[in-house]
Amino acid sequence: MKKLWVKKKSSLHGSGLFALANIKKDEQVIEYIGDKVTKKEGDKRADKQIKKAQKNKNNGMVYIFELNKKYDIDGGVLRNYARFINHSCNPNCEVEITDNQIWISSIKLIKKGTELTYNYGYPYDSDFDDHVCKCRSKKCVGYILRYDDWPRLKKALNKKK
Ligand SMILES: [Zn+2]
Repeated sequence: MKKLWVKKKSSLHGSGLFALANIKKDEQVIEYIGDKVTKKEGDKRADKQIKKAQKNKNNGMVYIFELNKKYDIDGGVLRNYARFINHSCNPNCEVEITDNQIWISSIKLIKKGTELTYNYGYPYDSDFDDHVCKCRSKKCVGYILRYDDWPRLKKALNKKK
Protein backbone atom coordinates (compact mmCIF):
# COMPACT_ATOMS: atom_id res chain seq x y z
CA MET A 1 0.00 0.00 0.00
CA LYS A 2 1.21 3.48 -0.83
CA LYS A 3 2.29 5.58 2.12
CA LEU A 4 -0.20 8.44 2.39
CA TRP A 5 1.36 10.52 5.15
CA VAL A 6 4.53 12.16 6.40
CA LYS A 7 5.49 13.17 9.95
CA LYS A 8 6.25 16.86 10.47
CA LYS A 9 6.20 19.48 13.17
CA SER A 10 2.61 20.56 13.81
CA SER A 11 1.28 24.01 14.59
CA LEU A 12 -1.39 22.33 16.74
CA HIS A 13 0.77 20.31 19.10
CA GLY A 14 4.18 18.65 18.89
CA SER A 15 4.45 16.55 15.77
CA GLY A 16 1.67 15.59 13.43
CA LEU A 17 1.02 13.58 10.31
CA PHE A 18 0.34 15.34 7.02
CA ALA A 19 -1.13 14.11 3.74
CA LEU A 20 1.58 13.30 1.18
CA ALA A 21 -0.93 13.44 -1.66
CA ASN A 22 -4.64 14.10 -1.98
CA ILE A 23 -6.48 11.43 0.01
CA LYS A 24 -9.98 10.43 -1.05
CA LYS A 25 -12.87 10.10 1.39
CA ASP A 26 -13.22 6.69 3.07
CA GLU A 27 -9.63 5.58 2.67
CA GLN A 28 -7.67 3.70 5.29
CA VAL A 29 -4.83 6.15 5.85
CA ILE A 30 -2.72 4.52 8.54
CA GLU A 31 -3.11 1.54 10.82
CA TYR A 32 -2.94 2.23 14.53
CA ILE A 33 -0.52 -0.49 15.54
CA GLY A 34 0.83 -1.56 18.90
CA ASP A 35 1.01 -4.32 21.44
CA LYS A 36 -2.09 -6.48 21.55
CA VAL A 37 -2.81 -6.94 25.25
CA THR A 38 -5.62 -8.35 27.38
CA LYS A 39 -8.11 -5.90 28.90
CA LYS A 40 -6.52 -6.44 32.30
CA GLU A 41 -3.06 -5.58 31.02
CA GLY A 42 -4.51 -2.72 28.98
CA ASP A 43 -6.13 -1.18 32.07
CA LYS A 44 -2.85 -1.49 33.95
CA ARG A 45 -0.91 0.21 31.17
CA ALA A 46 -3.56 2.93 30.80
CA ASP A 47 -3.26 3.76 34.52
CA LYS A 48 0.51 4.02 34.16
CA GLN A 49 0.21 6.26 31.10
CA ILE A 50 -2.34 8.49 32.85
CA LYS A 51 -0.05 8.91 35.88
CA LYS A 52 2.90 9.71 33.62
CA ALA A 53 0.81 12.24 31.71
CA GLN A 54 -0.30 13.93 34.93
CA LYS A 55 3.30 14.21 36.13
CA ASN A 56 4.18 15.71 32.80
CA LYS A 57 1.55 18.47 33.21
CA ASN A 58 -0.66 16.54 30.83
CA ASN A 59 1.79 16.67 28.02
CA GLY A 60 1.80 12.91 27.94
CA MET A 61 -0.84 10.81 26.34
CA VAL A 62 -2.75 7.61 26.77
CA TYR A 63 -2.39 5.26 23.84
CA ILE A 64 -4.65 2.38 24.87
CA PHE A 65 -7.37 1.62 22.33
CA GLU A 66 -10.15 -0.88 22.77
CA LEU A 67 -9.87 -3.45 19.98
CA ASN A 68 -12.75 -5.69 21.09
CA LYS A 69 -14.27 -7.11 24.26
CA LYS A 70 -11.17 -9.14 25.03
CA TYR A 71 -8.21 -7.15 23.82
CA ASP A 72 -6.76 -3.65 23.79
CA ILE A 73 -4.05 -2.19 21.59
CA ASP A 74 -1.30 -0.24 23.32
CA GLY A 75 -0.13 2.17 20.66
CA GLY A 76 2.55 3.76 22.83
CA VAL A 77 5.26 2.04 20.81
CA LEU A 78 7.87 3.65 18.57
CA ARG A 79 6.73 1.88 15.41
CA ASN A 80 3.23 3.31 15.72
CA TYR A 81 3.31 6.57 13.76
CA ALA A 82 -0.47 6.97 14.08
CA ARG A 83 0.17 8.10 17.65
CA PHE A 84 1.40 11.44 16.29
CA ILE A 85 -1.99 12.34 14.80
CA ASN A 86 -3.48 15.29 16.66
CA HIS A 87 -7.03 15.72 17.89
CA SER A 88 -9.46 18.10 16.26
CA CYS A 89 -13.08 19.00 16.97
CA ASN A 90 -13.56 19.18 13.20
CA PRO A 91 -11.35 16.33 12.03
CA ASN A 92 -10.73 14.87 8.59
CA CYS A 93 -10.29 11.30 9.83
CA GLU A 94 -11.93 8.89 12.23
CA VAL A 95 -11.00 5.72 14.04
CA GLU A 96 -12.29 2.59 12.37
CA ILE A 97 -12.13 -0.60 14.41
CA THR A 98 -12.44 -3.92 12.64
CA ASP A 99 -12.14 -7.35 14.26
CA ASN A 100 -8.39 -7.33 14.41
CA GLN A 101 -7.19 -3.91 13.39
CA ILE A 102 -7.56 -0.25 14.21
CA TRP A 103 -7.41 2.11 11.26
CA ILE A 104 -7.39 5.87 10.96
CA SER A 105 -9.61 6.48 7.92
CA SER A 106 -10.46 9.63 6.02
CA ILE A 107 -14.00 11.00 6.37
CA LYS A 108 -13.58 13.66 3.73
CA LEU A 109 -11.28 14.56 0.87
CA ILE A 110 -7.95 15.59 2.36
CA LYS A 111 -5.79 17.86 0.25
CA LYS A 112 -2.06 17.25 -0.02
CA GLY A 113 -0.17 18.93 2.82
CA THR A 114 -3.14 19.06 5.21
CA GLU A 115 -2.60 17.83 8.75
CA LEU A 116 -4.47 14.62 9.60
CA THR A 117 -6.72 14.76 12.66
CA TYR A 118 -9.36 12.72 14.39
CA ASN A 119 -11.52 13.10 17.46
CA TYR A 120 -9.75 11.36 20.37
CA GLY A 121 -13.14 10.51 21.85
CA TYR A 122 -12.35 11.16 25.49
CA PRO A 123 -15.38 10.77 27.76
CA TYR A 124 -16.83 13.59 29.83
CA ASP A 125 -15.62 12.78 33.32
CA SER A 126 -14.36 14.53 36.44
CA ASP A 127 -11.11 15.65 34.85
CA PHE A 128 -12.27 16.38 31.34
CA ASP A 129 -11.05 19.97 31.77
CA ASP A 130 -7.44 18.73 31.92
CA HIS A 131 -7.72 18.13 28.20
CA VAL A 132 -8.02 21.59 26.75
CA CYS A 133 -8.39 21.61 22.97
CA LYS A 134 -6.47 24.06 20.83
CA CYS A 135 -7.51 22.75 17.42
CA ARG A 136 -8.59 26.26 16.31
CA SER A 137 -11.41 24.86 14.16
CA LYS A 138 -14.62 26.89 14.01
CA LYS A 139 -16.42 24.02 15.69
CA CYS A 140 -13.95 23.77 18.60
CA VAL A 141 -15.74 23.08 21.90
CA GLY A 142 -12.64 23.92 23.94
CA TYR A 143 -11.97 20.43 25.23
CA ILE A 144 -10.90 17.10 23.80
CA LEU A 145 -14.19 15.29 24.06
CA ARG A 146 -16.22 12.67 22.21
CA TYR A 147 -19.14 13.97 20.16
CA ASP A 148 -21.75 12.19 22.30
CA ASP A 149 -20.78 14.32 25.27
CA TRP A 150 -20.84 17.70 23.52
CA PRO A 151 -24.41 18.50 24.64
CA ARG A 152 -23.49 17.73 28.26
CA LEU A 153 -20.45 19.98 28.02
CA LYS A 154 -22.46 22.84 26.54
CA LYS A 155 -25.04 22.57 29.33
CA ALA A 156 -22.30 22.53 31.99
CA LEU A 157 -20.54 25.53 30.47
CA ASN A 158 -23.79 27.50 30.21
CA LYS A 159 -24.44 26.91 33.91
CA LYS A 160 -20.99 28.28 34.78
CA LYS A 161 -21.68 31.58 32.99
ZN1 LIG B 1 -11.09 21.75 19.36
